[in-house]
Formats: sequence, structure tokens, C-alpha cells
Amino acid sequence: MEKTKRTARIAAIILNVCSLLLIGIIFHFYRIFDENISANKKQTAILNEQIAEQDRLTDDLSVSYHEKLDELESYKDFEELVAIEKESYFNEIIDLEQRILEGGTAKKIAYLTFDDGPYRLSERFLDVLDEYDVRATFFYLMKCQETGYEDYSDIYDRVYRRIISSGHTLGNHTASHKFGESGVYQSVDYFIQDLLKNRSFIYDRYGYMTTVMRFPGGSGTSSMAPYIIPRLKEIDYVYVDWNAETGDGKKVMSPETYAANVLNNTEGKDIMVVLMHDYSENTLAALPDIIKGLRKQGYILLPLCDRSVMCH
Ligand SMILES: [Zn+2]
Repeated sequence: MEKTKRTARIAAIILNVCSLLLIGIIFHFYRIFDENISANKKQTAILNEQIAEQDRLTDDLSVSYHEKLDELESYKDFEELVAIEKESYFNEIIDLEQRILEGGTAKKIAYLTFDDGPYRLSERFLDVLDEYDVRATFFYLMKCQETGYEDYSDIYDRVYRRIISSGHTLGNHTASHKFGESGVYQSVDYFIQDLLKNRSFIYDRYGYMTTVMRFPGGSGTSSMAPYIIPRLKEIDYVYVDWNAETGDGKKVMSPETYAANVLNNTEGKDIMVVLMHDYSENTLAALPDIIKGLRKQGYILLPLCDRSVMCH
């Protein structure tokens, strides 16, 4: 009887020791496990914060510029402040381009460009861009009374001013855009003169210096272009072509087709330059879908600057 009691006590002691050991082991492993989990959690939180911060910055890029311009308008040194603001804004865009090229972000850029204006419809294009808070780029000609556009020169004048004050980029597309024997491509000198005529027109009237140009028809359109390109640097111009288009300059198609031409041709284009024309009613009707569709695909819509990788 006495022996059985002792055996039972020893068994109880062994059981207690084993339980303590087991608890100790469980606690030890739990601590290691918990430390790993919190380290992982911390790492994830840091990463999430970095991603959120980058997204905040890039989202700001697309919406804040216009607000800042409005705010600056109340200051005395308006032009100087705008220039500083514009410089830092474009610095951020160039940084974003670099991040995209290095694969450091899932964001993409689309530069919407409108050629050959101003037109009577341009103001309605500007309304749509305002509605969606988009800054774009306009490659314009010299349209004023002196060049035979007296009928709508008041409207054109308003359009030039609105493009500049809204923070869009105004580009030079030559003064006349004429093709043929007496056109812009008749000689290098003639081309440069025509381009400079438009630059002076815009600068003298609106105090805005254009620094980005687009060849009428694109840089591949004339055998004269390779001789013009080296001269562009001398007069502080870079040129830009495009890697997507609605097709509105080629023939009249439905708004749905124009939108699809852009939205179905984005593959492999992390930085996109979209060619459109602001004379087309169908392009105007397609514009909201183009804007919404590109944003859905992760594009931020921004105005071009002369330091963009798309400019040469
Ligand atoms: Zn053109």
C-alpha cells in the first residue's frame, strides 16, 4: 500500500516536471514565432506606407497643380512663383518617368496631345479636361487675324490664354503647317523661320515661351526633318512624336472607335504620348472615355515638358 502511494507521488512529480518542461518549450517557440510575426508585420507596414506615400505623391501630381496656380494668382510676384512651381512640378514628373523606366512603380504616364488648333471646338475640349482635372499638351499653329483667321480670332485668343493659365503645355507646331512646294518643308531655313514666327507670336501676345515642338505630320514625314533636327537644339527646341493615336487625323470614325484605338493599344507603353485633334466632334465625345479608360489602366495624365524622355 505504502509502495503504491510512493509510486503514485513519484509519477505525479514526473508529470508535473514534464508539464513544466512542455510549457517552457511551447513558450520558447511561441516567442520565436511571435517575434517573426511582428518583424514581418513591421516590414509590411513600412512597405505599405512607402507605397501609399508614392501613390499620394503621384495622385497629387495629377490634381494639385491647378489648385496651386489659382492660389498663386493672388500673389504679387505671380509669374515668378508660377515659374518656380512649374519647375518643381515638372521635376516631379521627370522623377516619376525615371521610376517608371526603372520598374520602381506600377504607375504609368499618358501625355494627351492635341494638334493643329486652336479651333472653335477647343474651348469644349478644355471644359472636358477641366471637368476631369487633366492637364494636357496643345501643339498649335499661328492663328490670328494676320494669318487669315479673323472669323474666330476672339475665340482663338481666349483658347490660347486659357491653355496657358490652366497649366496645360502649349507647344509649337509651326506657324503655317503648310505642305507642298511652298510649304514648311521646302528648306531647312524656311522651316526654322516658320517655327520661330509662331514662337514670337505666342511669346509677344501671351508671354509664354514654347520649348517643345512637333513636326507637321511627325518627324518621319519629310526627308528634310533629319536636317532640321540638329538646328532645333540651336533655337532651344526639343521635338516629340507620338506612340498612340485616336486616328482622327486620318478619317472620321465613331467616338467608340477613337477611344478603342487608344485604349486597346496600351500594351508595353508605360509612357504614352497620344495624338488627337481638337477639331473633331467625335474626339470630343470620346475624350471622357479615353480619360477614364486610361486612368483605369493605371495611367496618370500629365502635361509634357521639354525634359521628358519622350522629347528628343
Ligand atoms: Zn499637324
